[in-house]
Amino acid sequence: MANDRTSHLGLPAMDISLAFPQATPASKFPPCVSDYFQLDAFLTPEERDIRKKVREVAETEIAPIIVKYWERAEFPFEIVPKLATLKVSGGTIKGYGCPGLSTLGSALALSEVARVDASCSTFLMVHTCLAMLTISMCGSEDQKTKYLPSLAQLHTISCWALTEPNYGSDASSLNTIATKVEGGWKLDGQKRWIGNSTFADILVVFARNITTNQINGFIVRKGTPGLRVTKIENKIGLRCVQNGDILLKGVFVADEDRLPGIDSFQDTSKVLAVSRIMVSWQPIGIAMGVYDMCHRYLQERKQFGVSLNSFQISQEKLIRMLGNIQAMNLMGWRLCKLYDDGKMTPGHASLTKAWNTLKAREVVSLGRELLGGNGILTDFLVAKAFCDLEPIYSYEGTYEVNSLVTGREVTGTASFKAPPARKLLTAKL
Ligand SMILES: Cc1cc2nc3c(=O)[nH]c(=O)nc-3n(C[C@H](O)[C@H](O)[C@H](O)COP(=O)(O)OP(=O)(O)OC[C@H]3O[C@@H](n4cnc5c(N)ncnc54)[C@H](O)[C@@H]3O)c2cc1C
Repeated sequence: MANDRTSHLGLPAMDISLAFPQATPASKFPPCVSDYFQLDAFLTPEERDIRKKVREVAETEIAPIIVKYWERAEFPFEIVPKLATLKVSGGTIKGYGCPGLSTLGSALALSEVARVDASCSTFLMVHTCLAMLTISMCGSEDQKTKYLPSLAQLHTISCWALTEPNYGSDASSLNTIATKVEGGWKLDGQKRWIGNSTFADILVVFARNITTNQINGFIVRKGTPGLRVTKIENKIGLRCVQNGDILLKGVFVADEDRLPGIDSFQDTSKVLAVSRIMVSWQPIGIAMGVYDMCHRYLQERKQFGVSLNSFQISQEKLIRMLGNIQAMNLMGWRLCKLYDDGKMTPGHASLTKAWNTLKAREVVSLGRELLGGNGILTDFLVAKAFCDLEPIYSYEGTYEVNSLVTGREVTGTASFKAPPARKLLTAKL
C-alpha cells in the first residue's frame, strides 16, 4: 500500500481541461461582455483601435502563458516584444519616439492588459506612467532625447523608486539622501517595493538634498557601483511583478543625470496625480476580466441539470458586478476628461483611484464566490485577479490615504498627518 501511495507522489497535475472539462479555463480568454451601457460610444476611433489591438494581444499572447509565470513569481520577458508592437509604452508623452496617446487611450491600454493580467499592466504602468512620465515632465531636453526613445520601444526598461522601508504613505518624509560631490551627486539610503527594479536599465530615484532639505530626482543606471537590488519574495498578488528592495551606498550620479524639474516633493506629486489616473483604470480592467470569466463560467457549468446562470443568487451577484463596472468606467472616463480640460484636482484622481479599487474588490469577491471551488484556482482567472487587486488597493496611495486626500479637498482640513506626540504635563509640577 505504502509503495502504491508513494508511486503516485510527484506526478504532474492533470491538465485543467481534462480534469474539469465542464468550463473553459482563462488560458482561452472569454469575450468581453461587460459594456452593458455601451460606453464604447464615448471613445474616439483612435481610442477604439487602441482598445481593440491591446485586447487582442492580451487575449492571444498573455492569457495562454501567464498563469505559469504567476505561480512561479517570474516576469514573462517573452511578452515584452509583444507589448512593444502595440506602441503604447510612453502613453501620453508626445515626441521622443513616444506614441502621444490621449489620456483615455493610454488608460484604456493599461486597463485592457489588466483585464487579462494585472502584473503585466503594472509592469507597463510603472515603466510608462511613473518613470517615463517623470523624465518627460521633469527631465532636461538632453535627458528626454537620450532616454525616452529606447524606453518607448521597450528596448530599455525603467523603474521608479520613491517608497522606503520607513516611509510609504508618508513618502514626502523620505530618508535617502543626496550629497553634492564634484561632477555629480552621491546617493545613500534604502528603497522598498520598487517594481521592475531587479532588471531595470534605469532607475528614477528620489532623495533628499542635504543642502536644501528638499526632494530631488536622479536617473541611476543599472550596475552603478554601490547599487544593490534584491527581489521581494512571498507576495500573494502581482506575483509576476519583480518588486525590489534597493540599497544605495555612495551611488554616484553625474550632474547630467539629475532631473532638473524636481526641486521639491510638490514636483513628484504632479507626476503622481497623472499616474493615479492611469492606476484608476487597472481595477476597471481587472473587474471586466472577472465579469467576463464569470459570465462564461455560469453558462458552461451545470448543477442539478441546469446552468449556474439560471439561479437567482448567481444572477444577482453577476448584475452587482456589472453595475459596479459601469460606474467605475464612467468615473474613470470622467476623470480623463477633467484632466484634459485642465479641471482635474488631486482629490478627483484620489477619489477615483480609491473608489474604483473598493468597487473592484467587491467584484472580485463576488466572482470568487460564483466559481465555487474553481474560484480559488488561478486557471480560471478569478483567484489571480482576487489576489492581484490587493496590492493595487494599497499602491499609489492606499485606499485610506487617497480618501483622505479627497477629504482634505472637500472639508478644507488635512487629517492624515499624525498629531504631534502629547507633551508631558508633569514637568513643572
Ligand atoms: C506590489 C507593490 C508595488 C509597488 N510599486 C512601487 C514602485 O514601483 N515604486 C514605489 O516607489 N513604491 C511602490 N510601492 C509602494 C506603495 O506605494 C506603498 O506600499 C504605499 O504607498 C503604502 O505604503 P506602505 O506599504 O508603507 O504602507 P503604510 O504607509 O505603512 O500604511 C499601512 C496602513 O496604514 C494606513 N495609514 C498610513 N498613514 C496613514 C495616515 N496618515 N492616515 C490614515 N491611515 C494611514 C494606510 O492606509 C494602511 O492601511 C508598491 C507597493 C506594492 C505593494
